[in-house]
Amino acid sequence: MADCLFCRIVAGEVPATIVRSDERTLAFADINPQAPTHVLVIPKAHIPDVAALAADAETLAAVHQTAAAVADEAGLTRPGWRLVFNTGPGAGQTVFHAHGHVLGGRPLSWPPG
Ligand code: AMP
Ligand code: ZN
Repeated sequence: MADCLFCRIVAGEVPATIVRSDERTLAFADINPQAPTHVLVIPKAHIPDVAALAADAETLAAVHQTAAAVADEAGLTRPGWRLVFNTGPGAGQTVFHAHGHVLGGRPLSWPPG
């Protein structure tokens, strides 16, 4: 989708700090990090949100596998980390291309805001 920011990152039209890339997924640093590790994991295909992602089991699994690999590489497995999918404007979703936020490296309070 030409007007989708994250599709443009996948296409290399918008610069990003790439952390991992494979056939189905891309992981890159969030431009406005909320924790020492804040990486976004996206499907390379344009999938608007988690509900649509759930309809594609292989891509859903791939996104979670990439998120776990990012967390492991960042040394977060033992202290713990969070995978957040804001879904819908009321939950703070601002980019309508599904993305998981991998967050860690500081204490993470619960419940989130
Ligand atoms: P959400 O609010 O859950 O839709 O998350 C969108 C995220 O994308 C926010 O955390 C933004 O900081 C991040 N973001 C926006 N533009 C860029 C960009 N060009 N490169 C990396 N991250 C971005
Ligand atoms: Zn997109």
